Amino acid sequence: MIETKKIILLGAPGSGKGTLAQGLINYGFVQISTGDLFRKKLSEDSEEAKYIQQLINRGELIPDSITNNLASAEIIKNSQDGKNIILDGYPRTVEQAEYLNTICKVDYVIYLNVDKEILFKRITGRLSCKQCGKVYNEYTNPPKETELCDICKVPLSRRRDDNKESFELRMKEYASKTEPLINYYNSQSASGTKFIELNPGKDESIDSILKNVLKQIGM
Ligand code: ADP
Ligand code: ZN
Repeated sequence: MIETKKIILLGAPGSGKGTLAQGLINYGFVQISTGDLFRKKLSEDSEEAKYIQQLINRGELIPDSITNNLASAEIIKNSQDGKNIILDGYPRTVEQAEYLNTICKVDYVIYLNVDKEILFKRITGRLSCKQCGKVYNEYTNPPKETELCDICKVPLSRRRDDNKESFELRMKEYASKTEPLINYYNSQSASGTKFIELNPGKDESIDSILKNVLKQIGM
């Protein structure tokens, strides 16, 4: 397999993984977001799609076997095309991380450590464009025209799992299943994976976070 750069973005729901990934796309990376891949599958008329929809709406994680299959297919395809990859929202459990180790080397893990109080506001204000995927926030990063995508000019939508109940379950899932990955990757430096922790302040601009990341990954 051709060795391309792999970066994992780790952080709670609303920590800014998707936004950072979108910024890195301009520097030659492709974004692989398991959340987006699952949401795309929902239009399929299958039992599996219905099952995934239920779990996502509640805020529960999808079983590792399904997630690993979906993610590995995308990782392998893009690596073969010679693309550098940003993994946004994968892995999310230690089991997924161990599976990922069997298919590729991870160069960087970027952990977005954001205060829990900020996260709730980010999630409940989140709007996104179904056409181009751009993410906005009504409070902190609003579109130029109310609820219209700046680029596509189509109405923005709110994710069904961006409500109080699902958010709380997503945070619980994060604390019990994903947070252990912080220690997991922090102790992997021997295998050549560099762990980078960022503490983006409430008012830190996306540009400033992106510049910091580019410097730390030597770009
Ligand atoms: P967020 O990080 O804001 O919670 P995502 O778009 O990354 O949102 O994920 C939405 C949902 O998709 C999750 O709540 C979960 O149900 C499912 N999902 C995404 N990635 C994974 C993963 N790696 N493992 C299991 N479930 C996942
Ligand atoms: Zn758009």
